Amino acid sequence: MESCIRRIENDIENITKITATPQMGCTRFSYSKEDKQVREYLLKELEGLRLKIKIDGVGNIRAKYVDGNEDKPSIMFGSHIDTVANGGKFDGLTGVISALEVMRVIKENNLSLKNPVELIIFAEEEGSNFGITMLGSKVLTGKYGLEDLKKIENDEGISSYEIMRNFGLDVENIGNDVLKKDEVKAMIELHVEQGGILDSEKIPIGIVKAIAGMKTYKVSLKGVSNHAGSTPMDLRNDPMVGASEIVTYLEKVAKEKGLPSTVATVGKIHCQPNMPNVISGEVDFYVDIRDVEADGVETVVKELEKKTEEIVLKRGLKAQIELVGESDSVRLSTKVIEAIEKSALEKGFEYKIMNSGAVHDSAMLTELTEVGMIFVPSINGRSHCPEELTDLQDIKLGCDLLLNTVIRLANE
Ligand SMILES: [Zn+2]
Repeated sequence: MESCIRRIENDIENITKITATPQMGCTRFSYSKEDKQVREYLLKELEGLRLKIKIDGVGNIRAKYVDGNEDKPSIMFGSHIDTVANGGKFDGLTGVISALEVMRVIKENNLSLKNPVELIIFAEEEGSNFGITMLGSKVLTGKYGLEDLKKIENDEGISSYEIMRNFGLDVENIGNDVLKKDEVKAMIELHVEQGGILDSEKIPIGIVKAIAGMKTYKVSLKGVSNHAGSTPMDLRNDPMVGASEIVTYLEKVAKEKGLPSTVATVGKIHCQPNMPNVISGEVDFYVDIRDVEADGVETVVKELEKKTEEIVLKRGLKAQIELVGESDSVRLSTKVIEAIEKSALEKGFEYKIMNSGAVHDSAMLTELTEVGMIFVPSINGRSHCPEELTDLQDIKLGCDLLLNTVIRLANE
């Protein structure tokens, strides 16, 4: 059984036309007019397949195919349709379109399966509206409730609750939509890799074994703001130079003291007063540390603390290190990994067992069910930008693998 490349291409073309930023990538925030249009397109396709459709209070779309097996847990598969600002065509959407195609093939072939199969389209994965990523899957798994949604606001101070209600969602009832443990037998998400490993090794399929955990710190260094011209070099307490020493050291630590899977990034920095002719008085920067092994993260955290202490003494500064975000690493299900591997071997697809540096919706479901992920290559490893690209042939391979794995899990 195979997916149809023309249909996949057609869906991607039709949907990526819908963007708030034509010629500047895909911008399709959840609860926007573009989101509404894409939902209409997808719902029409799903209704055509005569599936049992349910849209929950946060906007997750679930479409289930039951065939005398409704008492059994579903095999769930899907991804998200929202994007970052000026994002790419393939992040999220590749998994959704592949899931739709899998459902079409199953229905066309009138397959009778032991377990029901259920397609899921997650809402608000990217955090583009409220700065909270994976809000749809967090609500689905009960990590956030109605009261949280009333408190979470966008930049204009409008609550997520208000925005979801205005979008026509039954947000009051989100408590009833929380996924139950016996509802789902397995969850599989197909996604673009968003990194360059598969593309550089010319391997079309990645089977994910673990998703990296992360810690994010805000480091504030305080020194003495002063005149850039009249303050001699040996009479300065310059937090900017202190910050640059720490940033450079972090790269070295992640490479040399961390594990091969450890990464550390400083991507946001702010200084005051931010003037070309003034020595900074304060510098704040964010350190993002990730690894599938908690040890790798901890090594960098310890070194960050040690180095900051050293710099503070050396340069007469004051420092504060604050943990602003964290998530644990997640091991995916051996059972689902084996099922994907078996399917890949049967189909003769070359694959690589690998980790995911980015977190995905399906990671939220690991406490409830067996979770697996399939990666397809991102050309040049580019993602979250208009240059994001995945070869259609690779999407077809990924889709065939998803189809085969879903059927395998639904029939075992
Ligand atoms: Zn994504």
